[in-house]
Amino acid sequence: MAEKFASRRNIDFMINEVFDVASLNRFPYFEDHDEETFKMILDTALKISTEMMFPYFKEMDTNPPYWEDGKVHVYKKAIVPFLKEMGEGGWINAEKPYDIGGQQLPLTIKELAYFLFGAANYSMHVYPMLTAGAANLIYQFGSREMKDMYLPKMYSGEWQGTMALTEPDVGSSLGDLTTIAEPTDQGYYMIKGQKIFISAGNSDVVDNVIHLLIARLKDGPLGVPGISLFVVPEYRINENGGLEYNDVQCGGIEHKLGYKGSPIAQLTFGEEKNCRGWLVGDLGKGLAQMFKMMNEERINVGIGAVSKIAGAYYAALEYAQQRKQGRKPDQKDPATPMVELIEHADIKRMLLLQKAVMEGSMALAIQLSMYQDLVTVDENAEEHEMLTDFIIPMLKTYPSEMGILATSAAIQIHGGYGFCGDFPVEQYYRDIRIDPIHEGTTGIQGQDILGRKISMKNGKAFQLYINEVEKTIAEAKNYPELEKQIKALESAVQLMKDLTALLLAKKAQITNEAFLADAVLYLDFMSQIAIAWQWLKLMTAAAKALKGQASDQDKAFYQGKIYTGRYFYDYELTKIHSLAIRLSSDDKVTVEMASEYFED
Ligand SMILES: Cc1cc2nc3c(=O)[nH]c(=O)nc-3n(C[C@H](O)[C@H](O)[C@H](O)COP(=O)(O)OP(=O)(O)OC[C@H]3O[C@@H](n4cnc5c(N)ncnc54)[C@H](O)[C@@H]3O)c2cc1C
Repeated sequence: MAEKFASRRNIDFMINEVFDVASLNRFPYFEDHDEETFKMILDTALKISTEMMFPYFKEMDTNPPYWEDGKVHVYKKAIVPFLKEMGEGGWINAEKPYDIGGQQLPLTIKELAYFLFGAANYSMHVYPMLTAGAANLIYQFGSREMKDMYLPKMYSGEWQGTMALTEPDVGSSLGDLTTIAEPTDQGYYMIKGQKIFISAGNSDVVDNVIHLLIARLKDGPLGVPGISLFVVPEYRINENGGLEYNDVQCGGIEHKLGYKGSPIAQLTFGEEKNCRGWLVGDLGKGLAQMFKMMNEERINVGIGAVSKIAGAYYAALEYAQQRKQGRKPDQKDPATPMVELIEHADIKRMLLLQKAVMEGSMALAIQLSMYQDLVTVDENAEEHEMLTDFIIPMLKTYPSEMGILATSAAIQIHGGYGFCGDFPVEQYYRDIRIDPIHEGTTGIQGQDILGRKISMKNGKAFQLYINEVEKTIAEAKNYPELEKQIKALESAVQLMKDLTALLLAKKAQITNEAFLADAVLYLDFMSQIAIAWQWLKLMTAAAKALKGQASDQDKAFYQGKIYTGRYFYDYELTKIHSLAIRLSSDDKVTVEMASEYFED
């Protein structure tokens, strides 16, 4: 199996030459860190990924969790030491303040460590990642007592956290959920309902699972205003600090296409009328608060998708460098040796696709994480929060959807071997297929950007975003060799402004259904431009480096950026023109096609 699943050199390029992540250390919150501490942390993350995670990448896929006697049994041998390491190494709460045991690390660095974990073994990585998200909700909205009760054990990796939203009949339409919370005069609520697909919702590697669950107040209003957020532990904590039964039962797990190493559980709450939950934050604000975690998890899904693309890319690259097959089209002599696959233009095209999607998306993830870090230190917090919100649907969706094509290209490069289990690429392909589905499907992300984000705060977020892209264009103008890409991005931005204005002008005259019918295409259009923005950044940094002193190896590295950027602009960004034609059209075939016309 391929040895490499990510490039440490590439991460250094991103954080030092493209984004200057160390500049965050000017803020007192991050002042104890510098390039050296970042390096040490990322080196350690790579070591953990290489030694504790990647060796079990295949094994966890072929030995998936199973449910027996009401308990889910997972791949203990690997997951137990990993969770211990995550807790002891402070990886779950690394970005949190010192006073709660954090390291005040920029989220950007933590996300890059998570990228390495995800590339090595996403199924294993998801356990601490979910705990971090659930703990964050308690951290942001929970009472003092709640924080003291749950956070230390969650941060130490001893207790698992989950997000419990989905029900058998309610997935995307969360406003319709039916799990009930009935108030008592004891300060807690009685919870009754069923949740499904709950990642890491039950397992034999932790003592307790802390569910951050949304439920409807008994006799409360219909829809979103009736929904509140509760912490519902699998075992509640009694006065002596011991654990006691809380009537949370696991009725089984699903058998999945990929991402098999972590279970998704069916959970019943309050079957015996004995399940207690505690309100987190304000009554009726459950969905808005849960969206804090969802947003965090959407970013994690985007980065997780990038990590799987990376794993598949490095496997395909290694294979293409080693496997010999055929000759160049101009070489007709059968006595000449066959060439490595990587010599064929069509193989290069597929490698370029993977590299362009992976690195462009990774840059977008770093960009967004830096905005989040600036929110933490209060540097124009409102603006950086708007930029984060605006970019999330693109970061969640682009690598998830394009990752299916990118990992498929990795299989294609392997030919028949790629379809077989001896190589890792078929697993990356299966593993990534969940990403356009969980944490809000692509359809929901499309509606989010077109229905909400572009007009958010009277279009201020959209304008801030344009300003950011324009800053990158101005910087790139120092490098005349990038003129073609600069012009292409300038015209893409103009098209984005014109098309968006056109769509918003039409909105008043058409139904919401017609307005949102092609929302996913709009999201695709916007995402292509966002990735082009990032590629111009990467190309600018590479052009700058090529002007200085660079070894031959470094020159090849930077040339790789320039050529991959050229590929992105010529092969991918050009798709926005056909998307714009479709999006400008008044012909709404998907709305007008009656449901019964599908019957043959
Ligand atoms: C591996 C895995 C892990 C998961 N982990 C968790 C977890 O930890 N916690 C949790 O709570 N849930 C989890 N889920 C559930 C996941 O979030 C849902 O599957 C997802 O939100 C979609 O809901 P659904 O499956 O009910 O699909 P549906 O909501 O039924 O959607 C089906 C299709 O219809 C489309 N659609 C739905 N509504 C509309 C609409 N109004 N307009 C246009 N199109 C629409 C969707 O885009 C989708 O394409 C997980 C699922 C899986 C498979």
